[in-house]
Amino acid sequence: MIKSIYTIRRLYRQKNSMTKVLLVEDNEMNRDMLSRRLERKGYEVLIAIDGAEGVSMGMESKPDIILMDMSLPIIDGWTATQQLKTNPDTTNIPIIALTAHAMGGDREKALAAGCDDYDTKPIDLPRLLSKMANLLKA
Ligand code: MN
Repeated sequence: MIKSIYTIRRLYRQKNSMTKVLLVEDNEMNRDMLSRRLERKGYEVLIAIDGAEGVSMGMESKPDIILMDMSLPIIDGWTATQQLKTNPDTTNIPIIALTAHAMGGDREKALAAGCDDYDTKPIDLPRLLSKMANLLKA
């Protein structure tokens, strides 16, 4: 069946109006679980699997928000955040740092790197969604 032009236009508009989230996460299980849950909430999710890919996809895809794991191969999340935040093209994209440990220094380090907010794993989805919503409306 060929979709009518009206259906195609509607789908195109829906796709365009979806909030685009770039998830930078090297752990496949965390990545799959979080991306599926975000998609179910209506977000369009782009995936990068290391810090270097996170930086290049952040520059190319201009996501509305970035969820950045801190412990990443190639370049870590702190460095990737610094690179995105010092680039005028990507400096305004909000970044939420995700770390495995709620260690005191991690939060300060993430904020010093330029992250707009910080959350710890395992992910509490309602908590993360509310942090995302706060940054997206700002
Ligand atoms: Mn990691």
